[in-house]
Amino acid sequence: MNPIESDPAEPVIDLGSDLYFMGEALRQALRAYEAGEVPVGAVVVRGGRIIARAHNQVERLKDATAHAEMLALTQAQAAAGDWRLTDCTLYVTKEPCPMCAGAVVHVRCERVVFGVPDPKGGAAGGAMNILQFPTLNHRCVVTPGIRADESRQMLRAFFAEQRGRRELERAAETAPGPVPDGSTPKGGPGPGPDDPVN
Ligand SMILES: [Zn+2]
Repeated sequence: MNPIESDPAEPVIDLGSDLYFMGEALRQALRAYEAGEVPVGAVVVRGGRIIARAHNQVERLKDATAHAEMLALTQAQAAAGDWRLTDCTLYVTKEPCPMCAGAVVHVRCERVVFGVPDPKGGAAGGAMNILQFPTLNHRCVVTPGIRADESRQMLRAFFAEQRGRRELERAAETAPGPVPDGSTPKGGPGPGPDDPVN
């Protein structure tokens, strides 16, 4: 027996492929960005092969459950022909929310690799830890922070763009229209009789 052979009980975590597969999840996040969706992407990997890829589609599908992870898990179950994803790894660009983490536990996904952490809403150790909750019947191996900067930058750019768009819309709504007779337009600058002054 080869003395340097690794213990087969030890889970093999290959950081090289983690970086690669997270790159594929980031490509999905970019597709969401381009479609005007919060940019989160996910892929599911089994035996070194991607069996599902998805991006957030809440706006397009008008479905608050259409997070990248949910769509990717559903696709992966179809590809596996089984609801159990026991030998799969989910790569997602942002720490999963409680809904998605709950789904990950239900499908018994072996491992979750995520990018940027979410200390306010994350359920993989950020705000809570559903993925490794002691009394649930399944716990995942969790690898946080893979290519987190790229994911964070995309989310920041997206929300900055959204804010800019809202400000433009607000400015267009409150801007005075053309006033041919020189009178003060309704809703123009300065407080009107009904506007709170203080
Ligand atoms: Zn989610």
